[in-house]
Amino acid sequence: MIPYATAAEAEAALGRAMTWAEAAWFRYSAATPDYCLYCHNVVILLVVYTLAPLPLALLELRAPPKLTSPYKVQPRVRLTAPEFLRCYKDTARVLLLTVGALQLVSYPAVKMVGIRTGLPLPSVGEAAAQLLVYFLVEDYLGYWFHRLLHTAWGYDKIHRVHHEYAAPIGYAAPYAHWAEVLILGVPAFAGPAMVPCHMTTFWLWFVLRHVEAVDTHSGFAFPFNPTKFIPFYGGAEYHDYHHYVGRQSQSNFASVFTFCDYIYGTDKGYRYHKQAASLAKMKKDMAMYNNEKGRLAAFDGWKQD
Ligand SMILES: [Zn+2]
Ligand SMILES: [Zn+2]
Repeated sequence: MIPYATAAEAEAALGRAMTWAEAAWFRYSAATPDYCLYCHNVVILLVVYTLAPLPLALLELRAPPKLTSPYKVQPRVRLTAPEFLRCYKDTARVLLLTVGALQLVSYPAVKMVGIRTGLPLPSVGEAAAQLLVYFLVEDYLGYWFHRLLHTAWGYDKIHRVHHEYAAPIGYAAPYAHWAEVLILGVPAFAGPAMVPCHMTTFWLWFVLRHVEAVDTHSGFAFPFNPTKFIPFYGGAEYHDYHHYVGRQSQSNFASVFTFCDYIYGTDKGYRYHKQAASLAKMKKDMAMYNNEKGRLAAFDGWKQD
């Protein structure tokens, strides 16, 4: 809720005219209590959860497998439409119950850390810097929380649910035990608690965080994915390996970047796997080359005869 009755009052307090974004925010939020603005988060989360994985889900279900297989990380695993739907319904229910319940009680914490709703709106540079901090903090803390979830107790009691998908799909990104959804909320909230932001940045953070999780669980590794330009970004192939190995996995715990796994030596299995895969491909290419060479030599010999 903005403490000005009119746009003129707001501009007088700002000492300048409002930008179009600030005017739009003023119109939208002036009469809305901060608590309601905060509760938008759960709606935004459900909308993003429903829409972000949809294009790739449709691609997997509708496109001919020979078209999509080259881009699938595990091309032999293909889920059916009812399996997609079951994942969606189960996850949406857990999200609604846990994140929804959390929204009802966590508002005092949001107020306490200083998430603001007023004017001015943050500049693009300010929001981008804050989002970068949030990604780094979330990645670091999420790495350690994830490692704890791979202890025998953590895995059996909680984390095994998330690993039910050995070949993940976008809709399985937040598919987890309700306790894991709450536990992983801590690294996600830690950044905004350390560097408080505007409510709009707070919303954007959860949207981007979720879109990133959908991307890393998509099961597709496209060579033209723009995330390839983000330094140290893990991506789908990186996290897919963690799901592929499952319970025994001691590799690729980080949720966003690759440097935590590199620093703490938990990417050795993945690097070995990549080396073995490229060696196998090289051998296959060599065999094909030799085959082709033999075939051409035979043909050439036949022509000369
Ligand atoms: Zn795991
Ligand atoms: Zn995962």
